[in-house]
Amino acid sequence: MTLTQDSSFLQGVNRSYDRAVSAMNLPPGLAEKIKLCNSVFMVRFPIGFRGRYEVFTGWRAVHSEHRLPVKGGIRYAPSVNQDEIEALAALMSFKCSLVEAPFGGSKGGLCIDPRKYDRDSLERITRRFTMELAKKGYISPSLNVPAPDMGTGPREMSWIADTYRSMHPEDINALACVTGKPVTQGGIAGRTEATGRGVQYGLREFFRHPEDVKPTGLTGGLAGKRIVLQGLGNVGYYAGKFLQEEDDAQIIAIIEHDGALVNDTGLDVEAVRQHMNEHKGVKGFPGGAYVEDGLSVLETECDILIPAALEAQITSRNAARIKAKLVAEAANGPLTFEAQEILRERNITVIPDFYLNAGGVTVSYFEWIKNLSHIRFGRMERRLEELRGTQFVQVLEEMTGKPVPKAWADRLKHGADELDLVRSGLDDTMRKAYQDVHEVLHTREGVGDLRSAAFVVAIERIALAYAEMGI
Ligand code: GLU
Repeated sequence: MTLTQDSSFLQGVNRSYDRAVSAMNLPPGLAEKIKLCNSVFMVRFPIGFRGRYEVFTGWRAVHSEHRLPVKGGIRYAPSVNQDEIEALAALMSFKCSLVEAPFGGSKGGLCIDPRKYDRDSLERITRRFTMELAKKGYISPSLNVPAPDMGTGPREMSWIADTYRSMHPEDINALACVTGKPVTQGGIAGRTEATGRGVQYGLREFFRHPEDVKPTGLTGGLAGKRIVLQGLGNVGYYAGKFLQEEDDAQIIAIIEHDGALVNDTGLDVEAVRQHMNEHKGVKGFPGGAYVEDGLSVLETECDILIPAALEAQITSRNAARIKAKLVAEAANGPLTFEAQEILRERNITVIPDFYLNAGGVTVSYFEWIKNLSHIRFGRMERRLEELRGTQFVQVLEEMTGKPVPKAWADRLKHGADELDLVRSGLDDTMRKAYQDVHEVLHTREGVGDLRSAAFVVAIERIALAYAEMGI
């Protein structure tokens, strides 16, 4: 929540939507239909803890059902509220549409501080919440498929799957009722890192489009770019780690809940995360200067600012002081609508959330397919590819009379396993979606920025689905 007069999260998403729609030619009434959330289920349920009762409040919002099932995470946070869940459900519709994951949009949340409960209590709460949602059709492999979000992870998804399965033992596809499960419980390799990986692939694709990079004043690729990263949770950690280790970007500041770390020559993301695991915060990390007022570090001069934590971090209060050349939204809704307007006026490019963090739902889509097909990706073809590669190397060596260098031979002989295929599918998805956005940005009148262009792509597909469905 912001202390400014900025739009609420939902108002902000709706205003961005309206802006994009004004550059489109939709039949009257359809724009309104697509904008509105179809239904919201609110539930209160009690849990008894040794003679004491506590009542929990949760939501599951279904934004658009033009494709089924609807898809989107469940978050656990004390600040969860209906406005936020509706906004996030709407973003899920546009996200899925943009990356061509054949789902409608949904989101759930439970008003709880998960750090205040032990594992067993969290399991009871999660199982009860699951039952409440499943009873009303808000969890089901064919209707509504949750996933992890803030405050939840593979462990919670495993409890959800097990609860659903025990309610529907005859459903052979029961495991597909939720994604983001541990690999041993029907999950897929690469799901945990997927959102961060998608941020990396999305940024790489942005830098492959010099026309779009030019207005930022940046040149070249990601190597050497100075990055300020907010949030070292699941999304920020993997994004920062991959950008640092594989793209040679420099993470010059990390902002966390207890303050920020700054080091002009670069922070070691892995080491900071280790420190956080041990000390529950960044304070005391030896490799960087500690700044207590973490939010002020958002205003550091840098090439790329990656907000990967909460919504509404950049508002009308601090947007004028942002000195990044490029803002890459890894979190959902980190900029309020007013902040977006200010950055637009200042010509600061923003890569929008529902594109950049779509890696999570993309790999969720692969997991869902895996669950429905009941077979691991790569199981049928991996050894065949390996055999073909080996034969290719042999033929090459026989024909040339020279040995193929070992590194090359190993690469040629490698048969794709599940992780290789997931990364390939994710990379392709992030590239294709960016190219679709780029095309709209440069060919349509009145679009103007990446967010509006992404909305246009997403809305057009949803509109087409409604038109073809015949409502
Ligand atoms: N919670 C993630 C998101 O906001 C993932 C959703 C999913 O995998 O369904 O995109």
